[in-house]
Amino acid sequence: MSVAEQITSLRKELPRGVSLLAISKYQPIEAIQEAYDAGQRMFGENHIQEMAAKAAVLPKDIEWHFTGHVQTNKIKYMAPFVSLVHAVDSFRLLREIDKHAAKHNRCIDCLLQIHIAQEDTKYGLTIDECRQLLANEPWRELEHIRITGLMAMGSNTDDMEQVRHEFRKMKQLFDELQTTYFPDEPSFCQLSEGMTDDYPIAIEEGSTLVRIGSMIFGERK
Ligand SMILES: *Cc1c(COP(=O)(O)O)cnc(C)c1O
Repeated sequence: MSVAEQITSLRKELPRGVSLLAISKYQPIEAIQEAYDAGQRMFGENHIQEMAAKAAVLPKDIEWHFTGHVQTNKIKYMAPFVSLVHAVDSFRLLREIDKHAAKHNRCIDCLLQIHIAQEDTKYGLTIDECRQLLANEPWRELEHIRITGLMAMGSNTDDMEQVRHEFRKMKQLFDELQTTYFPDEPSFCQLSEGMTDDYPIAIEEGSTLVRIGSMIFGERK
């Protein structure tokens, strides 16, 4: 299937309340334009400068999401335009994003990344670290960021029950944090999880935002 056909068929397949983020990292401008022409408006990138370069030449009504690990010294390149930062995993990073957003008089939406998979990675908060961040850090004082939900990557495994279990834990954590910290804030509403190999399970377990790359664009070079 072409990029346009994949976009169209995915949009038909996704239930109400689940949005499609097309992960366009390493993809050429032409492929993104083809997805755009098929109606896609939300794109995700993993490298800040690559995202900024693409944003400069593609249509201005694209919503750019940053899904990679945030390097503090590059926040300045995305602060003018990024619409959602998916992988925030420390209070320090929230404060840095806030600082740069303030310079542009913006409020940048952020998701807290939870490390839930079995893989060893240095990125993401554990469930307890996330609870501690919200309980102990002065994040409410940051006026130029808004925490709008959680993000996770499922384990890279064929064991789909394991992946389901991880997504289920994410939904429980999301509900707990919503009740505890955001009861009157409808903006806390995003659960970003599910990729090409596991998005149907993520949706069954409560995802509101699936991040799909290779299924749309083919294998990355
Ligand atoms: C690359 C990437 C994706 C998309 O992965 P696919 O398996 O190609 O769908 C989703 N989320 C993040 C954070 C990624 O880095």
